Amino acid sequence: MAKSYVAIVGRPNVGKSTLFNRIVGTRRAVVSDIPGTTRDRIIDEAEWNDRTFTVVDTGGIEILPDAVNEGRRPGPESPLLEDSAQFIPLIRAQAELAIEEADLILFLTDAITGLTGADREIAELLRRSNKPVLLVANKADNERREMEAVEFYELGLGDVHSISAIHGKGVADLLDEVVELLPQEPPEEEFDEEVPRIAILGRPNVGKSSLLNRLLGEERAIVSPVSGTTRDALDTVLTWEGQPLILIDTAGIRRRGKIEPGVEKYSVLRALKATERADVALLLLDAVEGNAAQDAHIAGIIAEQGVSVVALVNKWDAVSEEVRLDRAKREEQVRDDLKFMPYVPVLFISALTGMRVNRVIPTALEVMQARYQRIPNGPLNDMFQNAILKHSPPSKFGRKLRLYYATQAAVAPPTFVLFVNDPRLMHFSYHRYLENCIRAVYPFPGTPVRIVLRPYEKGGSSKQKK
Ligand code: GDP
Ligand code: GDP
Repeated sequence: MAKSYVAIVGRPNVGKSTLFNRIVGTRRAVVSDIPGTTRDRIIDEAEWNDRTFTVVDTGGIEILPDAVNEGRRPGPESPLLEDSAQFIPLIRAQAELAIEEADLILFLTDAITGLTGADREIAELLRRSNKPVLLVANKADNERREMEAVEFYELGLGDVHSISAIHGKGVADLLDEVVELLPQEPPEEEFDEEVPRIAILGRPNVGKSSLLNRLLGEERAIVSPVSGTTRDALDTVLTWEGQPLILIDTAGIRRRGKIEPGVEKYSVLRALKATERADVALLLLDAVEGNAAQDAHIAGIIAEQGVSVVALVNKWDAVSEEVRLDRAKREEQVRDDLKFMPYVPVLFISALTGMRVNRVIPTALEVMQARYQRIPNGPLNDMFQNAILKHSPPSKFGRKLRLYYATQAAVAPPTFVLFVNDPRLMHFSYHRYLENCIRAVYPFPGTPVRIVLRPYEKGGSSKQKK
């Protein structure tokens, strides 16, 4: 279900991460260790007055050097003054990202340091956007600072909400307003669970909108008329040779075609939002320019979110003769860059000429089938027993991992539960070995698989779960 996004924006050290933690509390992270982020948690769910929404700490999103005009970003190796001019492009980038993707923006300032040039810059950007903004003066720990915080009215963003994130003062009132300003809760998923949802992802200029147009222009594709709900306005519903499917957030791809280049450079959040709703991601890569760090960020998110994937090396029409003749070598490079998803199918396409574009949806549908494939318990247990016979499990402290029983507990992505004597005896290399054994028999193309270990309880209660 599409959720409302609340983004926290502000220059470094104003207390974004403190407020983020205060709002989401000690809840388990939805997503952790995402490539392209600099903090443990940058995104999590919150609940207030019976409304749930997603909070994003934009300060934790890594802005790649090439995304910042000046080509600089903060890091331990280059400590930057938090309000120095060279820092502004970075803060600007984070604010732009929030404006693009969020439903509501919390603009944090610091009541101790008072109004700064960077605050004015961000305020200017936010004023020009049409997004609802709540201006917050943090660190208003006492009455005197609360009084002084009136200077922020000068930013022209309406009321100043004085809070102390560290002590929790004023945060409840702030959240009351947040919930008040959020858009209406989106309607529940109104289409069939069975209909594949496909997202087109990739860095700017890689050819997303060209591919979208090509796909929609194919003879096999019939685009359904928009039914008028908000969701349908974002997505495109189509039938491909009779098979219904949904292309996610095509409005986002189109919109980006018209805005100045640069804004979409921070695709981390967009990828996160899309993968939340997608079954299969079409990951576009650029055949001419080769792979960039940004590709790995997006691929990492896809893998982390358990979404299935097809890699499309686009612009294959534009590579040199030499490269074209050695496609195997190029594929090897792509696979090396995407090491953490060895199961990914790779297609070499041209959205411009249409080369192999007709293979894209059929491949995504094959992947979709794998995503929902169920292995019966009989063959599954035979497969694991063979795997163990061939290569015995590790032992630790003189104890050996014993597998009692295996079952597929879920699809999308396929999840296997292994009941063992002691899950702590598992070693990651054996984990990988078992995954390889599964794939040797059931390849699950384009689809991550999960292996979960559970202690087997004597008396056999686990076995009944079958
Ligand atoms: P970020 O860089 O914007 O995410 O800022 P942090 O959340 O890391 O906070 C920067 C510093 O400000 C930390 O030392 C926090 O402890 C401190 N801080 C955060 N909120 C408050 C507050 O309400 N009052 C005071 N006095 N300090 C705070
Ligand atoms: P997006 O930013 O990812 O949506 O990328 P666009 O679809 O806007 O494409 C960016 C640029 O790459 C445009 O100039 C396209 O004409 C060009 N382009 C897209 N696909 C191909 C392709 O397959 N071959 C070549 N040669 N150019 C392409």
